[in-house]
Formats: sequence, structure tokens, C-alpha cells
Amino acid sequence: MYKILQNMRKNERYKYITAYFQQAMPNAQTELHFKSPYQLLVAVMLSAQCTDRRVNMTTPALFEAYPTSASLAVATFDQVYDLIRSISYPNSKARHLISMAQMLESDFGGEVPSTLEQLTSLPGVGRKTANVVMSVAFGKTTIAVDTHVFRVSHRIGLVSARCTTPLSVERELTKNIPPQLRHDFHHWLILHGRYVCKAIHPQCEKCGIRQWCQSHKEKA
Ligand code: SF4
Repeated sequence: MYKILQNMRKNERYKYITAYFQQAMPNAQTELHFKSPYQLLVAVMLSAQCTDRRVNMTTPALFEAYPTSASLAVATFDQVYDLIRSISYPNSKARHLISMAQMLESDFGGEVPSTLEQLTSLPGVGRKTANVVMSVAFGKTTIAVDTHVFRVSHRIGLVSARCTTPLSVERELTKNIPPQLRHDFHHWLILHGRYVCKAIHPQCEKCGIRQWCQSHKEKA
């Protein structure tokens, strides 16, 4: 009986929050600038531990110098490093970008692949990056769990406290969110985490979903 009640509450929470975000953010999209799957992949790789704003300041010059994976594949480390030096972890990201481009050329004919297995075989591409590319570039029904999605899902109470890893959060969200809503949901949680439910100072007083938020209820 307790489990049924718990599931009912959770279902209602998903329902209410979906309705709120559909009205508040009907066109939620990534804030990264890109014009092709290749550019998206590069931008998402650069965005790890870095703001989208900073990435967007960096990519125009990078894409001008290396408009395709073929051109990036023959770049030197110093050339790429110089263009991304203001981004976090420029050393490893420069190495990964060049290796990733080389593998795109050698194994995928210069095309960004669209499956999890293929994407994660690329140097520097983890599950989160692959899920973003699959969702945004190829319209697949994946949910990428970054730091915002992880934190906000827990605070709202969309996932159980037992979900202590990004993969377990991804699985629970995927179980509860219908395929046609996953793309939007992913962006709703990111944008809500970035601008309202911030890591250090969540702005609960102006949050439109506070009456359905588990963390807010516990603090009240
Ligand atoms: S009420 Fe506060 S903790 Fe809950 S989602 Fe909103 S900002 Fe985050």
C-alpha cells in the first residue's frame, strides 16, 4: 500500500512538473552554438566542467580554423591548444579533440556516428556526451545526465536517493519519462538547474515548481 501511494505521488510530481515546464519553457534547447553534428560533438566535449557561454566564445575561431573533422585530424596539439586555452582542461581537451577527429576520419568516414557504442568508442567521449549528441543531433530518446540534471532530479524528488550515480539517475528518469518528452525534459532540468535551482543558492522563492519539490517540502 505504501509503495502504491509513493508511486502515485511520484507520478503526480512528474505530471505536474511536465505541465509546468511545457508552459514555462516550450522551446527548451541546448545553449551551445553549432551548425552540424561535428560542431555539436566538439562543443559538448569542450563543455565538460565549463560553461556553455565560455564554449560559445571559443568555438567560432575553432570552427573557422577546423571546419571539418578532416582538418582537425591533422592539426597539431599547439594549434588546437592555443584556440581553446581559455576553456577548462585545455591540455586533455586538445588531445582528445584531435584524436576524436582522427578516429572519425579513420573509422567513420568523417561522419559523426549516431549510436551510444560508436560514440563512446571515440577518444574523450563518455556516456553523457554521447547521449547529448544522440538526442540533439539525431533526435534519439536519450537523457544525458550532467551535474545539473543529477542535482535537480534529486532535489525535486524525481529519482530515488538510492540513485547515487549518473547512470542510475539516467535509468530512473528514462523509466519515468515517456520517449517523446525526454529531449525536452533533459533541457528543462539543465536550464532549471542553471538559472533557478543553482548548486549553491537555489532560488526556491521564485521557483515555479516549489510546491511539488521534495527538497523544498523537507526544508519548510
Ligand atoms: S524549490 Fe528550490 S530546491 Fe526545489 S526545484 Fe525549486 S529551486 Fe530547486
